[in-house]
Amino acid sequence: MELVVIIALVLGILLLNRPVTLLFQRLYTRHQYKRFVAAETFYHSVVSHHIKYYNRLNLEEQRKFLFRTYQFQHSKNFHYIEVEQNAEMPILVSAAAVQLTFGLEKFKLNYFDDIFILRDDYHYGFYSRPFMGHVDRTGIYLSWDNFIKGISGLTPNCNVGLHEMGHALAYVNFITRTEEDKHFKKEFHNFSKVARPIFTSMQGGAKNLLGDYAATNYHEFWAVAIEVFFENAMLFRQELPELYEAMSRVLNQDPLNFTGTGYATIIRRMEPLVRKATAQ
Ligand SMILES: [Zn+2]
Repeated sequence: MELVVIIALVLGILLLNRPVTLLFQRLYTRHQYKRFVAAETFYHSVVSHHIKYYNRLNLEEQRKFLFRTYQFQHSKNFHYIEVEQNAEMPILVSAAAVQLTFGLEKFKLNYFDDIFILRDDYHYGFYSRPFMGHVDRTGIYLSWDNFIKGISGLTPNCNVGLHEMGHALAYVNFITRTEEDKHFKKEFHNFSKVARPIFTSMQGGAKNLLGDYAATNYHEFWAVAIEVFFENAMLFRQELPELYEAMSRVLNQDPLNFTGTGYATIIRRMEPLVRKATAQ
């Protein structure tokens, strides 16, 4: 009899585990959304001021972008090393991750609990050259001065935020396998069918828009291709159309095909209607 009860209990726990987890997740998301709405204006002002990608989204997408940014930020611990911290920093770093994963279902890069923001280039391990950022099992590391240059468009083809988030995305899908996105994993094989031959030719000395650093190894090729995909999309599509197409498929988004109208346009369009309504 006791055995029957134990088996029934174990079965019950197993069967209810997933629905209960989903219910808690849904409740937590609802709770987070309420808090997000109270902070949305601030998030919008920070992100719209710095991230041009965001300004090209439509109203609905912008809200999704900001809520994801909020959720990403609140799932991490941010550490500031020799840099004066401000409220914009964790928002903008989170926004870089959200931009990269905007077409995917999974976006929290969940293996990484810690993000380290350093002041500028730094030395790491036994490498002689300075680092702008890196990713290892202890966290995601970014140098703030390079990060800002990247999002301000001062360094063509370079965006260290997107670059490191690109490494982190591959890490959670292929190394730790803690946040596997079905679409991403499936399409990455197709991406590699196009990308591998280009990478191999670059290792053999071929030059292209991606630059020599992309030939270092396949991880760097992937992270650099992400930077150029977002920062220099037009030229990328022109020079390496098949790779552009493959990148667009694996990330499930195309920076050259936005349908968005943006907050500013929507508010402008609404103004006459609001005036009319108040006049009546
Ligand atoms: Zn890298």
